[in-house]
Amino acid sequence: MFELTREQRQIQKAARKFAEGEFREVARELDAKETFDDRIWKKAAELGFLAVFVEEKYGGPGMGYLEQCLIMEEFARVDMGITHALDSTFFGTQLINLVGTEDQKQKYLPAICRGDMRMGMAITEPDAGSDVARVRTEAVKENGEYVINGNKIFITNCTLADFLVVLCRTETNGSRNHDRLSAIIVETDREGYEARPFHGKLSLRASNTGEVTFKGVRVPETNLLGEEGKGFYNIMEFFNRSRVQVAAFGVGTAQGALDKTISHVRKREQFGKPLASMQMVQGKIADMATLTEAARSICYRAASKLDTGTPDPALSSMAKWYCSEIAVKVADEAIQLHGGYGILEEYDVAHYWRNAKVLEIFEGSKEVEKVVIAKKILGKY
Ligand SMILES: Cc1cc2nc3c(=O)[nH]c(=O)nc-3n(C[C@H](O)[C@H](O)[C@H](O)COP(=O)(O)OP(=O)(O)OC[C@H]3O[C@@H](n4cnc5c(N)ncnc54)[C@H](O)[C@@H]3O)c2cc1C
Repeated sequence: MFELTREQRQIQKAARKFAEGEFREVARELDAKETFDDRIWKKAAELGFLAVFVEEKYGGPGMGYLEQCLIMEEFARVDMGITHALDSTFFGTQLINLVGTEDQKQKYLPAICRGDMRMGMAITEPDAGSDVARVRTEAVKENGEYVINGNKIFITNCTLADFLVVLCRTETNGSRNHDRLSAIIVETDREGYEARPFHGKLSLRASNTGEVTFKGVRVPETNLLGEEGKGFYNIMEFFNRSRVQVAAFGVGTAQGALDKTISHVRKREQFGKPLASMQMVQGKIADMATLTEAARSICYRAASKLDTGTPDPALSSMAKWYCSEIAVKVADEAIQLHGGYGILEEYDVAHYWRNAKVLEIFEGSKEVEKVVIAKKILGKY
């Protein structure tokens, strides 16, 4: 039987209080204006909600991925747009944690935990989405530097991050594309770095996403993160961790949509009685609650595997796929149970649905997650 510890319940409670106090009032406005309020980021850092899995010696509280998931779940329960904007300030620290040099850890991790620096991950390209190994952005060695040329797309924080971890092609001798990729830290104030944000996104409007171009950007060779040629494999290790965090967004989003719906069906009367008294409505609420609880279980279990040092990539993918799909399903039923009011932004459930949808696409689409799961079960075909 899985139970949270007293300390974990306290973290959950603190995160809930923070999100209710800081997000609830401003979420819709930030979404409409397609912007973020950095004061929320600074406050979240001050209260120690960012990258809680970072060890104490690098400025973090040294908690686990489960604690990080509890925080993200509570945040997303109120608003996933703000949650994603906050999460993406430290999106990638998992990789620095995994393969960074001592100098890199000392330089970046404390600053990220303090909210003095924010980062991003630049993997996706116009012709390399699900097929990560097709990355074409090139980093060529020249006089102790890498010279980077190429394009990335859908990059979170592209105009806000202090630095990005960029997946590049570094040499052409490897036999497989997978063996030719390397992760390189690129500071965004380097000459030749250009970024353009997207506007009018369906989802996550409070968070910054856009296109990046690298035109002869030069960084020192010491910016290599992990071993040269191991970038693809290290990024997959990173995904095993980050996908579980994204699963927690799904759990929180589903719970938030369910909370709104419970309150609505209790208040709304038709045929002279509350919707909540009708058995078909009760059945829908029971379905939504059960699916959300099942999603929570798989998310917590996948996080616990990371914390016990026994990561299970298939389980991380199961959590990411299942929690995303449940978030969409629950948010969809939430709109249905709100009737016409459901499509009005002020009732919030449409907002939950819009944000839920992207969970099925980024960080590995749900189809790609199923490929990972099937590979574990069936082996390679
Ligand atoms: C809001 C947002 C933020 C993002 N942030 C970042 C970021 O910070 N950094 C970053 O690097 N990327 C980021 N991404 C990119 C994201 O990771 C990609 O969109 C995702 O990997 C899918 O790639 P794609 O969009 O090119 O779709 P494609 O790969 O073209 O996929 C299109 C469809 O084909 C399906 N498909 C593809 N391959 C298979 C297969 N083998 N079997 C079955 N179906 C398949 C997919 O599941 C999908 O349904 C972000 C995306 C969004 C929307």
